[in-house]
Amino acid sequence: MTAPTKPPHGGTTESTSEHAPGEPLHSPVIDWFDEHARDLPWRRPEAGAWGVMVSEFMLQQTPVNRVLPVYEQWLARWPRPADLAAEAPGEAVRAWGRLGYPRRALRLHGAAVAITERHGGDVPADHSQLLALPGIGEYTAAAVASFAYGQRHAVLDTNVRRVFARAVTGVQYPPNATTAAERRLARELLPGDEATAARWAAASMELGALVCTAKNESCHRCPIAAFCAWRLAGKPAHEGPPRRGQTYAGTDRQVRGRLLAVLREAHAPVPQAALDRVWHEPVQRARALDGLVADGLVEPLPGGLYRLPLT
Ligand code: SF4
Repeated sequence: MTAPTKPPHGGTTESTSEHAPGEPLHSPVIDWFDEHARDLPWRRPEAGAWGVMVSEFMLQQTPVNRVLPVYEQWLARWPRPADLAAEAPGEAVRAWGRLGYPRRALRLHGAAVAITERHGGDVPADHSQLLALPGIGEYTAAAVASFAYGQRHAVLDTNVRRVFARAVTGVQYPPNATTAAERRLARELLPGDEATAARWAAASMELGALVCTAKNESCHRCPIAAFCAWRLAGKPAHEGPPRRGQTYAGTDRQVRGRLLAVLREAHAPVPQAALDRVWHEPVQRARALDGLVADGLVEPLPGGLYRLPLT
């Protein structure tokens, strides 16, 4: 299916040009997506806006294959925001399992509570109302508005940023943190038509996830290879600051993961000694535990006991 690129209609605000700079890229990327998109549960119509929101929280820092089983269990247990809102936040942390960065579980719980209290239990479609929910930033608001409600927003995740850096800017990697210039470019590249823009957002993200990946760019199967500025320039080497590593072993994040795993598996408060057993180094262990308590992920109780938060 070829998705048309139409001039913007009066209801949109971000592009006024009949020939958006991204126009040569739109149809090839969207056509490729129509043929190659993975069949993921949050892309099915029955996922609804809540399914899209849950998936976006989970996918932000965790790969698809690890998200899939937790997502399925989550939606089976809490099919609506109100179902999650009715539970203790610690249950969200427990169900988050080993997805990592567990503050996301607390934030998702907080968003579910706010959706239930302010929006009658329905995920709002309005971008500013989404952004006003606790724990929802610019990226998630744009992703939910675009993927769940078909609206026109620049959805700038790490995959999209890499595709734009290579195909349009002509460099191997985007900056370490998202810049104003990248946001401007993403808005300029948006198709004017709302439905096409929503398709483009999902398609450019999938291209970065499957073809133009961080480790290996598969230009021979890329639908925009003929236009790609970085490829056409002979793939100049990365000149920017060193890219952030993903070290995990020995970090406080690993210690926090171990401590939290003890509490997730216990269905009653656990003593300090049970936590002491999972990490040998006392200073780092104490720092990690303090951090979990400060983040609201662990609740200290009298008598040196700990549990996942009930409120
Ligand atoms: S041609 Fe290669 S580097 Fe350029 S966008 Fe496609 S996969 Fe990425």
